[in-house]
Amino acid sequence: MISESVVNSLKKASWIRAMFEEGEKLRKIHGADNVYDFTLGNPDHEPPSSVKETLKKIVTEDKPGIHRYMNNAGYEDVRQKVADYLNRTSGLSSISSQHIIMTCGAAGALNVVLKTLLNPGEEVIILAPYFAEYIFYVGNHGGKVVIVPPEKDSFKPDLKILENSITEKTKAIIINSPNNPSGYIYSEETLKEIFEVLEKKEKEYNSSIYAISDEPYYKLVYDNVKLPFLFRLYKKSFIVNSFSKSLALAGERIGYIAVNPEIPELELILESLIFCNRTLGYVNAPALFQKAIADSLDADIDVESYKQRRDLIYDTLTRLGFSCIKPQGTFYIFPKSPIEDDIQFIKHAVKYNILLVPGTGFGLPGHFRLSYCVSMDIIKKSLPAFEALAKDFNL
Ligand code: PLP
Repeated sequence: MISESVVNSLKKASWIRAMFEEGEKLRKIHGADNVYDFTLGNPDHEPPSSVKETLKKIVTEDKPGIHRYMNNAGYEDVRQKVADYLNRTSGLSSISSQHIIMTCGAAGALNVVLKTLLNPGEEVIILAPYFAEYIFYVGNHGGKVVIVPPEKDSFKPDLKILENSITEKTKAIIINSPNNPSGYIYSEETLKEIFEVLEKKEKEYNSSIYAISDEPYYKLVYDNVKLPFLFRLYKKSFIVNSFSKSLALAGERIGYIAVNPEIPELELILESLIFCNRTLGYVNAPALFQKAIADSLDADIDVESYKQRRDLIYDTLTRLGFSCIKPQGTFYIFPKSPIEDDIQFIKHAVKYNILLVPGTGFGLPGHFRLSYCVSMDIIKKSLPAFEALAKDFNL
């Protein structure tokens, strides 16, 4: 028999996939245009033209060596460009190529950081609602997940519960802002409060607790909200990022880890991260796409078009009586389910060909996630279906 833990994980895994498969069935019956599939976080935009131009240039020039192995941390020139970008946008000047490791997306980056940090049985704090894969990534490296819920009617983590959840085995906390699934952005003040708790508990236990900031939605921010820069707030920190959402390159598996230059034992940590990137089997981030993103770090995505969709969905749902917090970023919204049982609610929505993901899948039952990276036409067409759905729950 194969691994029991994998078989157990399969049972728990992915509401998103289950709903997507439900969608496939409905699309066959009703036609794709009549199914309102809000399940997947797969950007429907194309990568910016600068990425495509760079790719064409590389392929046309056909320079020898471009497809070979390289330093496991990635191409030096690309790492330097990422470091320059981070310095430019944060106002720091201390980040250099040595602090950057190119990875196979944010998912690869998270696995590399967790592998580097965790001894068996050590704990990683995850703030609900969370990206469900964290549970499996932590499990991959023998860690144990400890989930901290948010305050009531908010997505701000409950700091009292956070404090009580930290033990001598706590090794790291994962922070995801802008957050999947809520679109919530942790303010500088909230982050400072979190880090104060970590520092207090570090002193109490004489331990080291690292912050891992997972930021693939960093460019998808609305209403001029500013994202605080982690390195300014906490020394034992890693930024994990990718171009999956910011340059619409999800399938190309390209991202990076940035290590805080002020982290204690910097040299050992860098060496370990590069070793883990290699030995987890990634070896190095895809060569072609390292080069492809290097000159597009400042390229903008069309945030405005996502904002229009957010506004239409938020306005419609609140008008219909759904209770939701307005997302400040990402392309997700995470309203309260009108009934406690979010799974029953999303099953009922299927009656109107609306596909959603239950909050249960993100560690916060009683909610549902709607991903609005679908066309405005589909959103507009779905509105009467939401109206009918709301009526069924007397909203
Ligand atoms: N982290 C979060 C919060 C995500 O939503 C995703 C993907 O949806 C990832 C990480 C993984 O991103 P990548 O495609 O860069 O591996």
